[in-house]
Amino acid sequence: MKTIGIIGGMSYESSIHYYERINNQVNEIAGGLTCARMIIYNVNFEEIRKLMLDNEWDKIGVELARIAKVLEEAGADYIAIATNTMHKLADYVQSNINIPLIHIADCVADKCKERSVLKVGLLGTKYTMVEDFLKNRLKENVLTVYTPSNEDDINEIDRIIFDELCKGNIKESSKDYYVNVINEMIEKNGIEGIIFGCTEIEMLVKQSDLNIPIFDTTQAHIDSIVNYSLEIHGEHNEEY
Ligand code: GLU
Repeated sequence: MKTIGIIGGMSYESSIHYYERINNQVNEIAGGLTCARMIIYNVNFEEIRKLMLDNEWDKIGVELARIAKVLEEAGADYIAIATNTMHKLADYVQSNINIPLIHIADCVADKCKERSVLKVGLLGTKYTMVEDFLKNRLKENVLTVYTPSNEDDINEIDRIIFDELCKGNIKESSKDYYVNVINEMIEKNGIEGIIFGCTEIEMLVKQSDLNIPIFDTTQAHIDSIVNYSLEIHGEHNEEY
């Protein structure tokens, strides 16, 4: 079994799911008392969030790279950053370590391809929806990606993530908001699936709320981490 180093805490509401499900899934496959070899470095998200709002991404990059190195030196064979937004810094983190980073966009793209759904919508934080770092990685994986075009929608989706979901606050009105935006994207862009490109959205919107398949980055990342952990070969871990 390989050891996975996880950079968590962004938010801890979703990192809990990583810890629980990785262990559950590894146990389901391997049986007995088997659980995952995993090292979690939980950041103080309040400190990181302040740097985000001050646009100090260089400092966040240095901190995430430092943590990844700590995990590598502690014996991790792979690194996973348990948030989509921080994949803005994935290349920088990868360039500072000697072990592979399991990129969340590759994991979810594999799930879309498995179901031949190549025209997708993407919801996430403002950074993830407006900037190119995640969209481009999905496009490299042959997906056509749409994000909401209305600025008010982008701001409200982002606000709900940080003001509600990251604090574990699940509101029916926010769910309705997300579902409406997705339905508009189905009508306007003809999307055939929706990527939840933020690790907390799965807590709010469920498959039964929608008429198109959900591709959830949290679960896709977890499934891939389990495969790397147990050395089960897949499209993005064929070299191992
Ligand atoms: N967990 C969220 C994500 O997947 C947002 C928190 C963050 O900014 O890292 O993007």
